[in-house]
Amino acid sequence: MRTFDNPYSKEYLAELGGAKSIDIVGLLKRHKEIDEFKLADKLKMDVKSIRKILYKLYEKKLVSFRKTRDEERGWYIYIWRLEKHKLGELLEKRKDEAIDTLRAQLSYEKTNQFFKCQNGCMRVPFERAFEFAFLCPDCKGKLDFFDNTIIVRQLRRYITQSAKIGG
Ligand SMILES: [Zn+2]
Repeated sequence: MRTFDNPYSKEYLAELGGAKSIDIVGLLKRHKEIDEFKLADKLKMDVKSIRKILYKLYEKKLVSFRKTRDEERGWYIYIWRLEKHKLGELLEKRKDEAIDTLRAQLSYEKTNQFFKCQNGCMRVPFERAFEFAFLCPDCKGKLDFFDNTIIVRQLRRYITQSAKIGG
């Protein structure tokens, strides 16, 4: 399962349930299913913390569980399983969202002319600069034309790079 080892999935898991969720998923990956007490034992964590992370993963449908009754102790044991296909789907979705945001930024940069305060307070599109009579409302400095070619180029590069993530 290459998906689980790439840095993007680790980053995603860490965002989702903290650094420990990487370890939990790592263990789940190696077992068809495993109960939360064994997880806690293997990771030297308390069951409550484990459960908290598992619920976060469960909300994204990354894990599923079945419960079984411990007849001796009279409580329920939750047995967890990793939904291996789901991580790839989530990463793909996250990538698409990131690209959409970049595309919107690119379009904003391409369809506007920008003006920047000579003292660096702000950068605004033409309409705003016009409203301000080309004077910075913060420091009264001049708003000069700002060439955004580099920003446009950078955004294009980000979009290409993002599209490559995860294949
Ligand atoms: Zn200013």
